[in-house]
Amino acid sequence: IDILSAHGLTKVYSNTRNKVAATALNGLDLHIHAGEFVSIMGPSGSGKSTLLNLLAGLDRPSAGSLFLQGQDITQMTADRLALFRRRQLGFVFQDFNLLDTLTLGENIALPLSLDGMKGNTITQRVEEVMRLLGIEAYIKRYPYEVSGGQQQRAAVARAIVHRPALILADEPTGNLDSASARALLALFQRLNRDLQATILMVTHDPLAASYSQRVVCIKDGVVFQSLQRTGDQQRF
Ligand code: ADP
Ligand code: ADP
Repeated sequence: IDILSAHGLTKVYSNTRNKVAATALNGLDLHIHAGEFVSIMGPSGSGKSTLLNLLAGLDRPSAGSLFLQGQDITQMTADRLALFRRRQLGFVFQDFNLLDTLTLGENIALPLSLDGMKGNTITQRVEEVMRLLGIEAYIKRYPYEVSGGQQQRAAVARAIVHRPALILADEPTGNLDSASARALLALFQRLNRDLQATILMVTHDPLAASYSQRVVCIKDGVVFQSLQRTGDQQRF
């Protein structure tokens, strides 16, 4: 079953300043199955950020369809899209994006409280996911009171606490030293293997891509290669 299915996805930016249109996506087709861990790679300007913005529901395509969980998000009203995005997607950013005025526990609880979940259930789910990631001792700490690695795991906890259908990661290792990058990638691999989490990661980093099951290469706004990694190439 496809979690994500893009057909002829096209995005043309009409630059009003110099009246030059840029075709960022040019009829891109992409299918991602439930439980896959996929990397998107490609040179600068190939359309990766544009694709991620469309998948995240932050921008609308000029043409084409984009099905997530069987629903064409290009046909949704803004309100429904916002709800869909909150429930079905989890985001891991390059700079963690934890809120400094909230504890780790409160940060991780956010996707659940935004969704109207009740206090007890929220606490249970937050504790459960923090245990899963080995950061339960820091539930009352503020982001600046914990290490970078703990912040990173809290950011991942926040991205998965509401059990999204798809986890989107934008250059997640971009600002990490190589030990932290490996730890994060191993964590993604564990979530993918143990929880069957579906992960789509945009990255420049070949090391990061080597942790995924499939590497999709984008060039000039289309997929030009999709490489399934074999088991013995995969890192542990
Ligand atoms: P990547 O993330 O792979 O570097 P982008 O999606 O950012 O690629 O860009 C793809 C193409 O679209 C590039 O030619 C870029 O200049 C153009 N582009 C991206 N965003 C905009 C925008 N907001 N307005 C005009 N052109 C844009
Ligand atoms: P449960 O037994 O309550 O279903 P799991 O062991 O399946 O718990 O999951 C533990 C935690 O991992 C959950 O709290 C949830 O946040 C996260 N999780 C579970 N499934 C997924 C998934 N498919 N994608 C992302 N995160 C998930």
